Amino acid sequence: MPQKVISFHYTLKNTKGEVLDSSIGQEPFPVLEGVRQIIPTLEDELLKMNVGEKKQVFVPADKAYGQVNEKLRVKVNRDQLPEGDIQVGTQFRAGQDPKDPVFTVTKMEEGEVFLDGNHPLAGEDLQFDVEVIDIREATQDELQHGHAHGAGGHHH
Ligand code: ZN
Repeated sequence: MPQKVISFHYTLKNTKGEVLDSSIGQEPFPVLEGVRQIIPTLEDELLKMNVGEKKQVFVPADKAYGQVNEKLRVKVNRDQLPEGDIQVGTQFRAGQDPKDPVFTVTKMEEGEVFLDGNHPLAGEDLQFDVEVIDIREATQDELQHGHAHGAGGHHH
């Protein structure tokens, strides 16, 4: 079976029903089968669907972005961080490796900076409302790049 590209619309909500993200009003989101561009549970459900089909997919935190790790919530002195403008929302990578966690400043107080290295969606059970818009075979370009390209050709 050739690898497929599935384009779908999604609305992501948390368990309180708050919308966290959505593709509605934009191009449908294309995903290349098998490379785990998206949460595996969601990909597995999409692969069972047909064009035009809608579904609600529930993904518990453990299968999404994991539980909150308290060890990734740290407090440092302002002078341990690089010079420059630091404010709530500023992000730092912990090391040089792209796999190192990204820390976000959550609070600043009297020369102390509170950092959180958890994914913003850690600890959240996620609810995806999805609709499959298109299913096609992947192109050679997509297979070589290891990701799907959008309707307008090449998006990176
Ligand atoms: Zn590409």
